[in-house]
Amino acid sequence: MTTEYHSSNQERDIAYVVHPHTNFDTHEKIGPHILERGEGVYVIDDKGNRYIEGVSGLWCTSLGFSEQRLVDAATKQMSTLPFCQTFAHRSNRPAIELAEKLIEIAPVPMSKVLFQCSGSEANDTAIKLAWYHHRARGHDRKVKIIGRDRGYHGTGAATASVTGLPYYHVDFNIPFEWVLHTDCPNHYRFAQAGESEEAFATRLASNLEDMILREGPENIAAFFAEPVMGVGGVVVPPATYFEKIQAVLKRHDILLIADEVICGFGRTGTMWGCQSQGIQPDLITCAKAMSAAYLPISAVLISETVYESMKEQTKKIGGFAHGYTYGGHPVCAAVALETIKIYEERNILGQVQESGAYLRERLEEFANHSLVGDIRGVGLMQAIELVRNKETREQFNINQQVAGFVSKSAQDDGVIIRPVTGDTLAFAPPLIISRSEIDLIIGATAAALDKTEKWVS
Ligand code: PLP
Repeated sequence: MTTEYHSSNQERDIAYVVHPHTNFDTHEKIGPHILERGEGVYVIDDKGNRYIEGVSGLWCTSLGFSEQRLVDAATKQMSTLPFCQTFAHRSNRPAIELAEKLIEIAPVPMSKVLFQCSGSEANDTAIKLAWYHHRARGHDRKVKIIGRDRGYHGTGAATASVTGLPYYHVDFNIPFEWVLHTDCPNHYRFAQAGESEEAFATRLASNLEDMILREGPENIAAFFAEPVMGVGGVVVPPATYFEKIQAVLKRHDILLIADEVICGFGRTGTMWGCQSQGIQPDLITCAKAMSAAYLPISAVLISETVYESMKEQTKKIGGFAHGYTYGGHPVCAAVALETIKIYEERNILGQVQESGAYLRERLEEFANHSLVGDIRGVGLMQAIELVRNKETREQFNINQQVAGFVSKSAQDDGVIIRPVTGDTLAFAPPLIISRSEIDLIIGATAAALDKTEKWVS
């Protein structure tokens, strides 16, 4: 009876559901992996198998899968006022309180908050705000947006264009012609032999400035950066990188947009990735851990200078012609407020500093493994990059999907870790993870690496 029920869910998924970021042919052969419940850092599937969620879903379930206070916050707001738009002067208390809180905890002085539902929407909005800002100041030609190779900013048409991973462009008629991409700051993979982190950062800043001068600074609106790249391979920028990049952007009146969608709210051991990486942005986008992913909500934090431009524009045009039905949704905002309250009450930042250091210490045990070329990360955002040859850093053929094999083996052993760009495995467990649960992640990873070593040889 149970088996019938399972197989019918499998079949109905294949029959009706389109899965993002999925090969449909493979999906029709292997079917979905259906999760039924969550408990702390564990998820439990429809066959009763338990897995540690080593990447917090999609880097987002920061408080695990069974935080009752978030359920209560949602229920309370749902039964009081389940919806209220924020268009045309209408507002609601949770959205107001959340905006105030975000301004209070922002990494640099910020002035206003604009709400959306997803990271992609927040980044798309930030692009439009950069254009609006420059227009208000009479710089109509400042339109081009610079992203970075391997940067990930979402999958809307504009945000997928700024994303610097060609896989997201193929056959979608993007990137748009107003998008440029500059170097990925992955020192391990892209530095020249013997090049120090500082020298690598200087070279990248100089390449960026050359690009700006070639394109004409009067044509460039903004530069997008994740403080620490996630999907692009967990890339911690080299020493002095942001200091040098920011100097270039300032010289040419180009806005810096910090994409804090993964890094924001403690992932790197500080409230914001901007703080751990020394970034002073003009706009900040955030989502995911803002509500611990219990409900979809994202935000753009806007500096006073950009807000002043926006105000000028709305005076001229008659209104701000932008916004989403669910932006500032009271139930999502109530859950986000409760999430931030929990971070503060439970000293989540202190916990991440401690557990992040422990995770890193344990990952360093793989330093001598034949498949492990690099171990990198910050806080609870860590990774190992796999290589065919440790000396030359030669990579495996991409079609071999070696990181995928490790991830599958670890999953068979009850631990979910995620292959990201460049045969890299990401470790980004919920921020509440304990040492003993980290030990389980390490144990499954060690076994999976050994199994993979045999498979590739
Ligand atoms: N920006 C970054 C850095 C991300 O990692 C993601 C998603 O993983 C996004 C933006 C897009 O967010 P969403 O999937 O909510 O649209």
